[in-house]
Amino acid sequence: MNNSSNCKKLLLIAIDGLSFPLLQKWFAMGDLPFLERLMEGGCYGLLKPFTPSNSAVIWTSIITGMNPRKHGIDSFIYYKVGERIVRKTAIKKMLKCGIRPLFRWLQKKEYVRDVPFSLSMVQQKMLWELFAQEDRSVGVINWWYSWPACEVPGFIISDRVHYWRLKERGKNGSLPDTHLVYPDSLFDEVVKSIVDPLALPVDVYQQFMKVDRREIETMRNCHYKRHQLMSEFKYLYSMDESVKKLALYCLKEFPQPDFLAFYFRGIDIISHCALKYDSCNRDSHVTDKEIEQFGDTVHEYYCHIDRILKELIEKVSVDTTVMVVSDHGFEKEPDGRFGHRKTKPPGLLILNGQNVRTGLRVENASVYDITPTLLYLGGLPVSKEMDGVVLTECVEEIFLQNHPIQFIESYGSPLRHKGPVAHDSDEEIKERLRALGYLE
Ligand SMILES: [Zn+2]
Repeated sequence: MNNSSNCKKLLLIAIDGLSFPLLQKWFAMGDLPFLERLMEGGCYGLLKPFTPSNSAVIWTSIITGMNPRKHGIDSFIYYKVGERIVRKTAIKKMLKCGIRPLFRWLQKKEYVRDVPFSLSMVQQKMLWELFAQEDRSVGVINWWYSWPACEVPGFIISDRVHYWRLKERGKNGSLPDTHLVYPDSLFDEVVKSIVDPLALPVDVYQQFMKVDRREIETMRNCHYKRHQLMSEFKYLYSMDESVKKLALYCLKEFPQPDFLAFYFRGIDIISHCALKYDSCNRDSHVTDKEIEQFGDTVHEYYCHIDRILKELIEKVSVDTTVMVVSDHGFEKEPDGRFGHRKTKPPGLLILNGQNVRTGLRVENASVYDITPTLLYLGGLPVSKEMDGVVLTECVEEIFLQNHPIQFIESYGSPLRHKGPVAHDSDEEIKERLRALGYLE
């Protein structure tokens, strides 16, 4: 960590699907030294299991401090019925009443269309919007629902830049190329930093699995198949690598913002694809050859993320409070596959750095506590509309004494576009969201 700044800073790093039992297993082998130090030198704890165990819903609850009824996100997509917006839960309820054939027909006729997510669907302010409205500087990279990137004192690189890059390679395509980043002047640098999934070098593949050149060629050309390492590895690796490169660029080019947030998706996708090959999880569907080739893939990816975290966190100022969060873990589900939908294995919270106590295990923290805790540590009041509390047990006594928790009734409703920001090319967007593992 460098010494360049002297005011309070926050860094929130989201690692989708980071699993506590796996961390413990690999800590015991001394393999994740940075994460281990981060946990032992700070506070950590499991988050209460969340229903539904759906990443879009959990991350939006994390970043608003509010439950899905308040923030309005219940799925990766929503439906447009004529010009009306209908949420997936409402459609599901209707389908239970036996109108599925009618619904299918309406879909076919395009009276009902499903639309990929955007910030316009989120009915509460995101944490970065709260800091921004209090004139604090913010930086956000790849966070859920960060598109369209709004104007802030700082920068936003939205979660849609990845498939904008993919578009360049496509034959047809008119993906929305507006509001991908803020400020616009960042755009050229962003495009340069996006790692091309189809051009990953051989040694990247071989770092994570035992594959020869012919097999790598097959993986490069493999069209998207959900939860299949063969097709998904290139996308998940390039997405995380792009986020890292963009984060390093922004940390170098801009003064460190008061609130900084990065989102990494790779662990989630690689766990869906490859936990079944891990030696201790051996199941009857997996062959000896597959275990030989991919048995160490998830482990290697955790080591990779450990190094990325080290690289990034060493770049922020020493007076930064660092929070690493996962939305859920992974477990063997009733269908025998590794996932999180049914078993709801808990996510993890790690706090370290400025004003944070050392060596404490937090009990009973919830996803709703993250936003109130970060607001408090950042010197802003907590809204009474939020569903969580400040995790005071993590905070150093002296800070608590000098900074009583302040409350306000509400931060107000966000000014959003009336309807969702939709686009003619939503079908293409959905295809690319699938390729990145966002959609099923
Ligand atoms: Zn997730």
